[in-house]
Amino acid sequence: MDRKQFIKKFEHHFAGEPRLFRAPGRVNLIGEHTDYNDGFVFPMAIEFYTTVAIVPTRDRKLYIRSENMDELIAIDLDDNEERRNHWSDYVSGMAWALEKEGFRLPGASLLIESEVPVGAGLSSSAALEMASALALLSTVGGELDSQQLALLGQRAENQFVGMNCGIMDQFISVHGKKDHALFLDCRTLDYELVPLKADRVRIVICNTMVKHELGASEYNKRRAECEKGVELMSADYPGIKALRDVTLKQFEKVQHKLPEVVRRRCRHVITEDERTQASIAALNDEDLEEFGRLMNASHDSLRDDYEVSCKELDLMVDIARSQPGVLGARMTGGGFGGCTVNLIWADAVDDFVEDVAREYRESIGLQPAIYISVPSDGAHEWI
Ligand code: ADP
Ligand code: MG
Repeated sequence: MDRKQFIKKFEHHFAGEPRLFRAPGRVNLIGEHTDYNDGFVFPMAIEFYTTVAIVPTRDRKLYIRSENMDELIAIDLDDNEERRNHWSDYVSGMAWALEKEGFRLPGASLLIESEVPVGAGLSSSAALEMASALALLSTVGGELDSQQLALLGQRAENQFVGMNCGIMDQFISVHGKKDHALFLDCRTLDYELVPLKADRVRIVICNTMVKHELGASEYNKRRAECEKGVELMSADYPGIKALRDVTLKQFEKVQHKLPEVVRRRCRHVITEDERTQASIAALNDEDLEEFGRLMNASHDSLRDDYEVSCKELDLMVDIARSQPGVLGARMTGGGFGGCTVNLIWADAVDDFVEDVAREYRESIGLQPAIYISVPSDGAHEWI
């Protein structure tokens, strides 16, 4: 996307000279379905950004146009307590959260365009929230630190949009850093930027091009199953607040007391927390093979224990693992469609892209989108 052209586009639809803000999508390398269990995640920001151009108005209205949706909607800030079940909820929800925080917004015209594929599991939603948050804050000259921004975005998505997501997506969209992935403790929000230079290896994202509808309801079920596990295990381990508090050893001692499904859900989360911590150690030791093995184990656990994969994700992973130079392949994001993430030796990438696309297409009749991304910077003003 070209900055000057984007300004021209803005001027085509609205009056005034806009300021531009951008926030990236993300791919989670490992640590899936651990965030809402107070556990660990390890995402990186990708090179695809959502851009929001903004000019303040004085009429307490938001005029929001999305190029991706090719639609303009007007929102009255004095009548903005409820979601409208519309894509604009992510923006008006951000406005709602900022006003709850004490920022009184004057109104604004906003033009939005996303390079992050929308609804593909690469978090176009958090990118939209974080770019909108910076843009809206600029109209009041307000400032929030990066952690507050992420938390406000999560609040907008939880309470306004009605999606009960964890903190990972907003957090990485703000804190991402070029050439680094981010290890995050979702309980304390302590984080560590871990160098991930894409010189010897590449991060390749394969989009299955499917999104199964049961995603949202299954997500809420998984959350409830995890809570059930905590409740049952707290009989033996009083004081545990989340699955994060249970070690694998402790789990193994009491797992026979859990109903079968709850047992498998807990096993995924508890082993995934261990794998995520182990993967940081592997990267620090420059042991990329071990990192790849941990990614593979993560997928198998998500498929068998947590049951959030689907046949298209499994197929994409199986095809990837059969290619030369692949260190690890796993589904990424919530599951039931969306993308896989692959760690690949740099010199094997060209063949990988061609062969995986062909094999997936031949098996399933869909042409997958394949993206190669380096770890990128978090939300910022685009000047
Ligand atoms: P993901 O975050 O993985 O892309 P979600 O379902 O969480 O998927 O968020 C996608 C939703 O976010 C879209 O359906 C739309 O409502 C909203 N959205 C994201 N990006 C844009 C955009 N550029 N323009 C309008 N709406 C967007
Ligand atoms: Mg999302």
